[in-house]
Amino acid sequence: MAKGKAFAAKLAHELSTEGKVICPVCNTEIKKIKLIRSRNSKGNTWAPKYQFVSMCKCNEKDIMAGKVNA
Ligand SMILES: [Zn+2]
Repeated sequence: MAKGKAFAAKLAHELSTEGKVICPVCNTEIKKIKLIRSRNSKGNTWAPKYQFVSMCKCNEKDIMAGKVNA
């Protein structure tokens, strides 16, 4: 399947280059990262919460410390 292969290559190219966003404040690449955090609700139920956040030098430390409420 040459056609399918070409499509995959194009997609990978776009993700690696054109998807790049540079933060105007700290001038580093803004990366989309996936956070997994626990969320306590009533009682003893525990549900993992998945969240995508944009991370650059500006908020990197806060995210790593779990302080970001995006
Ligand atoms: Zn920044």
